[in-house]
Amino acid sequence: LLTVRGLHKRFGDNEVLRGIDLTLHRGEVVVLIGPSGSGKTTVLRALNGLETPDAGTIVVAGGPDIDFAPETPVSKRTRAQKRLALRDRSAMVFQHHNLFPHLSVLENVIEGPWRVQGRPKAEVVAEAQVLLARVGLADKADARPHELSGGQQQRVGIVRALALRPDLLLFDEPTSALDPELVGEVLLVIKELADEGWSMVVVTHELSFAREAADHVLFMDAGVVVEEGAPGDIFGAPQHERTKRFLTRIM
Ligand code: ATP
Repeated sequence: LLTVRGLHKRFGDNEVLRGIDLTLHRGEVVVLIGPSGSGKTTVLRALNGLETPDAGTIVVAGGPDIDFAPETPVSKRTRAQKRLALRDRSAMVFQHHNLFPHLSVLENVIEGPWRVQGRPKAEVVAEAQVLLARVGLADKADARPHELSGGQQQRVGIVRALALRPDLLLFDEPTSALDPELVGEVLLVIKELADEGWSMVVVTHELSFAREAADHVLFMDAGVVVEEGAPGDIFGAPQHERTKRFLTRIM
């Protein structure tokens, strides 16, 4: 479903991604772990078309190979088109839910599929209601985001991503802004989606979630994938010093 080859990205002098490879089959969960600043968010943003890589190839869901190269005076438009081609394939759930405060929960959810994707409003509303019910928020459709708890807001964020019918779900530390007692309910929803067969890339520091839900774990440091494998191998018998050091620090 997803193939990433040789992804590079620099911000000024800071080379943030230095050749990332990543493969995900349909229905798989890939978890990215690694220290702050290692480039995990930048990988997700590149997959979602929010960031333009300087080099590398991304292929999603049988679409064309999207090759990136550094910007030249004539390439700006092509680079933007490439980003947009990726934008349609995946949906991202952010650390901070980024809901529109002036819109109701339902309006937040239908905004993308109705206004951006142009699907019929009645169909989108019906689907949104089903999705809200699935995450236990059927009775909150008319509430404003500020009337919800952080965990409920984040569940709306997840529904908003699902409503886009993406091939791929991207989660960027979806629970790290939550109070500890709200983390579980959000992880449970993500775990259920994984069990249902959604394909996803998840950046998280929740190692017990990674252990239970991931098919594959990638440990990143300083813009490279240092080590990858099944969660049992990465957490049970890490091979690299850097992985060992990171795991002992956060476990
Ligand atoms: P964290 O766990 O703290 O979110 P991360 O592994 O997700 O870290 P990134 O957010 O991908 O790391 O950031 C990697 C590096 O890129 C950091 O040094 C960051 O400061 C830098 N960076 C990210 N976005 C930009 C930007 N738009 N402009 C300049 N530098 C950036």
